[in-house]
Amino acid sequence: MTANADLASIDVAAVLDRAAAGGRITPEEALELYRSAPLHALGAAADAVRRRRYAGVEHIATYIIERNINYTNACVTACKFCAFYAPPKSDKVWTRSLDDILRRCAETVELGGTQIMFQGGHHPDFGVEYYEEHFSAIKKEFPQLVIHSLGASEVEHMARISGVSAEEAIRRIHAAGLDSFAGAGAELLPERPRKAIAPLKESGERWLEIMEIAHNLGVESTSTMLMGTGETNAERIEHLRMIRDVQDRTGGFRAFIPYTYQPQNNVLRGRTQATVFEYLRMIAVARLFLDNVAHIQGSWLTTGKEAGQLSLHYGADDLGSVMLEENVVSSAGAKHRSNLVEMIDLIRKAGRVPAQRATTYEHLHIHDDPANDPVDHRVVSHLSSTALEGGTAHPELKLITSD
Ligand code: SF4
Repeated sequence: MTANADLASIDVAAVLDRAAAGGRITPEEALELYRSAPLHALGAAADAVRRRRYAGVEHIATYIIERNINYTNACVTACKFCAFYAPPKSDKVWTRSLDDILRRCAETVELGGTQIMFQGGHHPDFGVEYYEEHFSAIKKEFPQLVIHSLGASEVEHMARISGVSAEEAIRRIHAAGLDSFAGAGAELLPERPRKAIAPLKESGERWLEIMEIAHNLGVESTSTMLMGTGETNAERIEHLRMIRDVQDRTGGFRAFIPYTYQPQNNVLRGRTQATVFEYLRMIAVARLFLDNVAHIQGSWLTTGKEAGQLSLHYGADDLGSVMLEENVVSSAGAKHRSNLVEMIDLIRKAGRVPAQRATTYEHLHIHDDPANDPVDHRVVSHLSSTALEGGTAHPELKLITSD
């Protein structure tokens, strides 16, 4: 019997019922749901799982206020989907000073942000020491900021530069102030699509191995998935399977966050892209398949605000962040921007009560009365002014306008 014939024998309605009731589904069943379950039924099953998991607070959807701080665009890894990096010897390379980074942290605190995502290229000179210095400086001045940053790819790179093991690198940057890993660099974990789009990155197995080391050291993370660079449906589900298997052992992934490839200013040139429907199907199948991952995050940044609202009805319980600064996917064409007032409005109009959350998902402020909504119009997602033009986002982003 062929694989397709195997899939054809799966009773989609029965699998949906079992998954909606909390039963574990196999990768083959997940693939068949992803390929052929009616979209509305898939969403209803995923939403049932979400409501049961969050019984008592199922009326709430969360968001966070954070800032991406991009410390350098110099990168030796040259991923084909990336519009942010510049080769290290290029005249487009920039690196932010520590003073500049601390100023951006100060602005984040001033605007009510609770988290920073330190995100940049694989600089040929930045080993463990660079991150130790920067994280300890940030924590010294802003102990209230959670450093939710980096991922296994950065660990692999910095460990190589410093000549230490991944475990030692993680121990040291954790001791210096890193609170949790953002799980960047997962892209697609199966070998074929990963090699096709990021041939110089570590393998998917190695990415997971490093995350497992981190989890075992008490450093939790989120997990991500880049959709739309030509991977097959089966490879998308295999990505989920690889994450679920590690999660069964560690429990260290707090959330799963799929997002879609952006087509501008990169080597792949947008020859393939994921549709909004593929994205929503992934949100729903992820909620059904990842029965061991607490949170599924919807995205408005790469898919648009309406798709973000819809994701809250397809299994997502969180709508990501008001990102005070973002330059990476913006360089590749993600043009969506939002602000605190609009984020609250988006969630409310999706039929949920908005709540600002912490990195670890505790509710900080539940906006259950519109009359008491925060009105700080400075809390806006900023993009670099040149992020959309030529890639390699410009360093001179001004965040706070003087008004
Ligand atoms: S995605 Fe990250 S590792 Fe890949 S080229 Fe861009 S900055 Fe470098």
